[in-house]
Amino acid sequence: MSAFDSELSRRLRELEDQTLLRRLRRVSSPQQPHLAIEGQDFLNFSSNDYLGLATHPQVKQAALAATEQYGTGAGASRLISGSMHAHHALEDALASFKRTEGALVFSTGYAAALGTITALAAKDDILVLDKLVHASIVDAARLSGATLRIFHHNDANDLERILRWADEQRGKSPAAKILVVTESLFSMDGDIAPLREIVELKERFGAWLMVDEAHATALFGPNRRGLAEEFGVSERIEVQMGTLGKALGSAGGFIAGSRTLIDYLVNKARSFIFSTAPPPAVSAAAQAALELVQSAAGAQLLEQLRANIERLRTGGFREGAAGSPILPLKVGPEEKALELAARLRDHRIFVPAIRFPTVPRGKARLRFTVSSAHTAGDIERALEVLKASV
Ligand SMILES: *Cc1c(COP(=O)(O)O)cnc(C)c1O
Repeated sequence: MSAFDSELSRRLRELEDQTLLRRLRRVSSPQQPHLAIEGQDFLNFSSNDYLGLATHPQVKQAALAATEQYGTGAGASRLISGSMHAHHALEDALASFKRTEGALVFSTGYAAALGTITALAAKDDILVLDKLVHASIVDAARLSGATLRIFHHNDANDLERILRWADEQRGKSPAAKILVVTESLFSMDGDIAPLREIVELKERFGAWLMVDEAHATALFGPNRRGLAEEFGVSERIEVQMGTLGKALGSAGGFIAGSRTLIDYLVNKARSFIFSTAPPPAVSAAAQAALELVQSAAGAQLLEQLRANIERLRTGGFREGAAGSPILPLKVGPEEKALELAARLRDHRIFVPAIRFPTVPRGKARLRFTVSSAHTAGDIERALEVLKASV
């Protein structure tokens, strides 16, 4: 073994000693409630495809038609050659869905967070993040070079304390901007940010607000625009982010907001500028999913999802907000979470054990995610096996 590989092996062993080593599992079926993993059938509670749209005939058809019409690749960054009809059509659909002046699509949600935050905040600015925001936001914050402050998870009082401090800093450098970033439905805990209080605070202190609705888009709000809609604060949020790879069953991330914000990001978001545009099929699939979500058929899928969430909650899941398709089962020590996940796998139930660095050390959990495509029988089986295993 080369010196290079032996150093990396040593690092991997270190991870293994801490029960933090991960490996990939080969899936040979589509992402749906039943997964074929390494030749065996598993009941799947690990996907964020909450409405089953990743395998919906209309969504697949849209991807196929776009491939026929436009081919597979976008060719280049959109500023160079790739700003294709499929991207613009999706962005128009997203803007009208979110009721914003504009929207901009990125190839991943990770790229959307990275490009947007680093475009908006730089060295002399202040970024204020919820303690549990997604890694994409944390990485963006570090890369931006802005001064970073973290408020206790979902704690508006702590946010107020930090905003008061940030406001004082502006006394010294008046040009400094303050950007607050939170998720709406948190990806690992399934709980919900106090968006109304956060919006009031950022307005009181003249800060900007970015809300990542990765897990709430298409699931919450009277028109399924997300939790900002549910709380009636959409118009007061400068930067609304969403993803296309979760409930929308495709791939990518998007920002919705003012025309000026979108024009600014086209010029300044490096993950947009220096990256090949999404394949047209991916954008067309997301657009078809968006149409479905807003249709009567979509409303029915959401109803099925809600019924399944209720079944799990009635069966003993207590964590997470009402209506959250993310249902964490908090275990604590990493090795205990791994053991429980392995026991469930023995019974052909696939649930990921989520560990550091995704969540803090010693706060490992099984993260159940549920879909409209699970049957009542699927849920019952999971609950039975779980009862026998914990
Ligand atoms: C999944 C996720 C992202 C990243 O989106 P991808 O499209 O998977 O890159 C960003 N923020 C949150 C909160 C997420 O859950």
